[in-house]
Amino acid sequence: MREITPVLQDRWELREIHSKPHLVYYGIRNYPYHQKGTIVINRKIAEIIRGFDGKAKIHGDSSKEIREFIDQGVVVDIKDKREPPTEEDYRECSRCVNNNLIIPGLEFDEKGVCAVCQYYDRLGSGEIQSIAGGSTVTDEELMKAVENNRSRFDVLVLFTGGKDSSFLLWYLAKKLKLRVLACTWNMPFMNASTLENIRTIKQALPEVEFIERKSAWNELQPRLKRVFGIGGVPCICNVLAYALFYPIAVYENIPFLMDGIEFVQTHFMSITTPVPKIFELISKIYHPSDLDKTLFFLKKMALPTKQEPKNDFGKFIVTCRESLEPMYQPLQYILKNKGKFRRLPVLKRLKSDEAYGSWDDVKDIITKELGWKAPENQKGLLHTSCALETVKDYCQYQYFLQKKTTFIPQSIIEISAATYYGMIDRDTALMELQERGYYKRPEILDTLLDRLGLSEEEAVSMGGYLGCLFR
Ligand SMILES: [Zn+2]
Ligand SMILES: [Zn+2]
Repeated sequence: MREITPVLQDRWELREIHSKPHLVYYGIRNYPYHQKGTIVINRKIAEIIRGFDGKAKIHGDSSKEIREFIDQGVVVDIKDKREPPTEEDYRECSRCVNNNLIIPGLEFDEKGVCAVCQYYDRLGSGEIQSIAGGSTVTDEELMKAVENNRSRFDVLVLFTGGKDSSFLLWYLAKKLKLRVLACTWNMPFMNASTLENIRTIKQALPEVEFIERKSAWNELQPRLKRVFGIGGVPCICNVLAYALFYPIAVYENIPFLMDGIEFVQTHFMSITTPVPKIFELISKIYHPSDLDKTLFFLKKMALPTKQEPKNDFGKFIVTCRESLEPMYQPLQYILKNKGKFRRLPVLKRLKSDEAYGSWDDVKDIITKELGWKAPENQKGLLHTSCALETVKDYCQYQYFLQKKTTFIPQSIIEISAATYYGMIDRDTALMELQERGYYKRPEILDTLLDRLGLSEEEAVSMGGYLGCLFR
């Protein structure tokens, strides 16, 4: 091995996690290192790496571990350390629209294909597997399963008034002629167009029964403040709906509960999140049923555990549960008393690559059939229901950029997945990306802080990441 002046590559940091030294990568590594963004190392190696001062040289006689890190590009010669990208010289994937400005530390292969696309390629070829939560279902399976259903409803839909859940509602009620109970959590900060859409769709679908819940602001406000202050996430739309409406599905004895999340949107996290060996082993022996998977997901969300959460997403789930505990009680009761119920509903997703066409097809159908309208000030179709989505983008980006979390900004991944899987073309994707909250501080962030009664001082003192939004 040649003589080098070793340093950690840009976006790698030495961190103590659960009092063990780790190398942590704030980025997305090229294949096959998709699950190797956080590496536990021993104290001796940590000491050696801490000694990398950009001056001292090392030779081929260094330890095996260090040589391995050099081979992988984790440790590099100081001359090869990347500079953080600027608005003038950032890189964009030749396949999708991921770039290393919004995802600093995103790696590319020699053809300019980003690490995320590399995984999708291998997912397609079967080289790697997705453990995406929930189970997909085809039309035939769904129709067969509800053939002798004695409940008044075949499926409960979590309906937000957004493009995907509006389409799902139309698809199940109109196209498949299933009996649907549509449940909406009327959350604060819903877009005006969404509320209008919900009203219009109620008229357009007389065969569907609707339930709407609107939490009391006085009860919600201190809880949302805590979720934002500690968990760092401004919006809980897609978490609370399960807690509020799963119990309704149980009470009405409905076999299925569905949400409008497109299946491809769930790939990425499942590819990059390491599956515990024990979990892999168990699922090989027992082949968990769809109900097992549903209960696993709901328990993770609603029941306290002794173990500390392993990643930031886990921490967010815990913060939500602790902040909103009383609202989770009906679901907690069900999970703790499973035997008392005739039937527990199963979470399902449509096999979206078959049911959903392009985003434009979906928009055409819901516009024509349901009178659906996009928000007035938004050209894109991603996240149309909640006005806080841009704040979520902005927060996720800032925390990631400033290396507070390894959690990758979500919207760009969703947009790039839609590009990769052909649901939108590249120009549309770039337009969608511009409308996200990455490139400038969204004005509604101040409205949110104001309504939550959250001052800069208090935000900083709550111990989450919020402080870094004010700098
Ligand atoms: Zn890509
Ligand atoms: Zn929201």
